Amino acid sequence: MESATRSARNILTGLHEVMASKNHAQAKLNHVVNIIGEALSSEVCSIYLLRDGALELFATRGLNEAAVHVTRLGLGEGLVGTIAENVETLNLDEASGHPNFRYVPETGEERFHSFAGVPIVRSERAVGVLAVQHVEPRKYEEVEIEALQTVAMVLSELIANADLIDDPEIGSGIETGTVSLTGLPLVKGAAAGVAIFHQPNVRIEHTVAEDTEAERQRVYSAFDKMREQIDRMASQIDFGTGGEHEEVIATYKMFAYDEGWSRRINEAIDSGLTAEAAIERVQQRTRMRMRQIDDPLLADRMHDLEDLSNRLLRIVSGQMSTAAQLGLKKDTILIARNLGPAELLEYDKRRLRGVILEEGSLTAHVVIVARAMGIPVLGRVRGIRHKVRDGEMILLNADEKSVIVRPSASAEESFQHQLVDRQKKKARYAAMRDEPAVTKDGLPITLMINAGLRDDMSALATTGAEGVGLFRTEFQFLISATLPQRERQQRFYRDVLDAAGDKPVIFRTLDIGGDKALPYLKDETSEEENPALGWRALRLSLDHAGLMKTQARALIEASAGRTLNVMFPMVSEPWEFDAAKAIFEGQMEFLGKLKKQLPSKVRYGAMLEVPALAETLDILLPKIQFLSIGTNDLTQFLFAADRADPRLAERYDWLSPAILRFIKRVVDATDGHDVDVAVCGEMGGRSLEALALIGLGIRRLSITPAAVGPVKAMIRSTDQAAIKAKMTELLTSPTQNLRSALSVWATAQGIETS
Ligand code: PEP
Ligand code: MG
Repeated sequence: MESATRSARNILTGLHEVMASKNHAQAKLNHVVNIIGEALSSEVCSIYLLRDGALELFATRGLNEAAVHVTRLGLGEGLVGTIAENVETLNLDEASGHPNFRYVPETGEERFHSFAGVPIVRSERAVGVLAVQHVEPRKYEEVEIEALQTVAMVLSELIANADLIDDPEIGSGIETGTVSLTGLPLVKGAAAGVAIFHQPNVRIEHTVAEDTEAERQRVYSAFDKMREQIDRMASQIDFGTGGEHEEVIATYKMFAYDEGWSRRINEAIDSGLTAEAAIERVQQRTRMRMRQIDDPLLADRMHDLEDLSNRLLRIVSGQMSTAAQLGLKKDTILIARNLGPAELLEYDKRRLRGVILEEGSLTAHVVIVARAMGIPVLGRVRGIRHKVRDGEMILLNADEKSVIVRPSASAEESFQHQLVDRQKKKARYAAMRDEPAVTKDGLPITLMINAGLRDDMSALATTGAEGVGLFRTEFQFLISATLPQRERQQRFYRDVLDAAGDKPVIFRTLDIGGDKALPYLKDETSEEENPALGWRALRLSLDHAGLMKTQARALIEASAGRTLNVMFPMVSEPWEFDAAKAIFEGQMEFLGKLKKQLPSKVRYGAMLEVPALAETLDILLPKIQFLSIGTNDLTQFLFAADRADPRLAERYDWLSPAILRFIKRVVDATDGHDVDVAVCGEMGGRSLEALALIGLGIRRLSITPAAVGPVKAMIRSTDQAAIKAKMTELLTSPTQNLRSALSVWATAQGIETS
């Protein structure tokens, strides 16, 4: 068996001659299919190109000649259409067994059983398909597929230069009017500015090398330059130390020095590609792998590699600078498919107002860095790159999940007013930072924040909150590529406690499983039909006692000499709390025997987010020091409505009698017990909802940091006795629209609810 490198190299040498010849494009393609077919001993080799929106058979060796320029397949139609639509490779020993197989009689392909095809890619889109077929049913070897993929790269140059295909840049049909789009808020905030594309589309001019050694030297020196740039950038970060963004940059640096990556690029150069084509080739393969892996966390890591790959490509070609390198001239909203953390860091912070991504997730590295920089980010905005042009106006409101492209003058004006209002409010809330959260009639309310990253801890100082009411420990696990070991967990928890100073932090033990699957526990948590109702949170921790023991020990050791507040998620029955507490007590005893310094006090709490627990509170309450109502999960279980389903997002109101009565019942049940009761779901961070909760007897709220100012303003303008009476009235005989009734009443009372 010939190596992938050798077979690709043989083909490339042949192709090089063809491309240099004076023949017209069709003759070149006819020649190409023969060269490939021969080199791979393939009975059929065909090239399909995208023309007028369909994939047309352009050249073939082995299929009926009469089918050339006759057979046309739509995107998604047949195997060829599927490859182009999904921009993915197919490798089948029995073509007709594939669900998308479509019989094309004029080609005479029925004799051929096996089929392998790869997309021909230009500007990230498939512009054609290269396919081989055999009579014998056989799977193609990995090396053959790789050779095909390398050839497809070279073909994309040939066909683009020959003007044979639809230009992927043309016909994207950008409108001219106002367009509203929605996405997933990754970092909250709002901003206006002109759209700037992060990166012009990469076009590689030459794919086949004249001089392989020269190409190798070009890549070597590009690697050196890139590593220098990254090191310099890492040393110049100026937005605080000791947060996750530092870990993110460290991981990123590790990728930059990754030997495997440079080796793969070298191998691609060995096969006859230019430096640019080799980098792109390796990147394409990474992208394809990534798609097959289908793991969002791993995908995040891969974006770092993509970021580096783009950087290397720009260095080696010396022509494709990013918008960052060109410099921002106006307030900018940056548009990209995805960004790496270092790419974001290169922008001028004085001009960069916001970021819109087509992809992105809450735990992506770029998001962690953007949060540390205080730049709003809206992710998963589908097709944004094809709906806006460079330099057009954009209004971004990540809080409202919305983007407005090309707004009318009046919409822009009112948005600018809103931004000014926001600034004013922000300044007012900042001025209120040290004022107590006390109602007009003197009732103090404890306002705490929800956190999950070390970077979040700075919010304690900026908001004046009294502590962290919910620290989501799973975040550290979600952003790590591997399971965080005990020492790392312990260091992290200690850093968090240090950052909190004398303010309390309630650590919630791992809430993973379900939708928060970890790659290193994936086999066990995937495949669930109803992940929200599945093997998650405390259920998983109790079955994985090792995991919980490790976390318990890390928390206990990190809290040496201080109070440890620990809370268990998804407690459904009191015995689950007992079992979790026993694990902590066991670790206390174990560490005591080792003469380790223990926490001065351990306080235990449970989250109430599974409705069943409300029925057994009389059993649970004597055992715990605090209870935290998680309204995010509680609502989904009460209404049987998936919290992640956007179609249900607006359907069930937190201000509905069912939820409010339920919470009231829980509050009443805690009467006479020495238990702090808090609400830590999103509900508590909305002013009107928080007002209702105070009326129900809630005295503690743990909320998103941005909500502390508005909620405090609401509390300070409220009369507790009045809202209590109002809630009793509303819950005794509810109106159909409780929200509007409460809102009207609050306005009449002069309560600040926004
Ligand atoms: C909740 O369910 O309300 C909660 C606070 O926890 P999480 O959002 O992390 O599930
Ligand atoms: Mg929850």
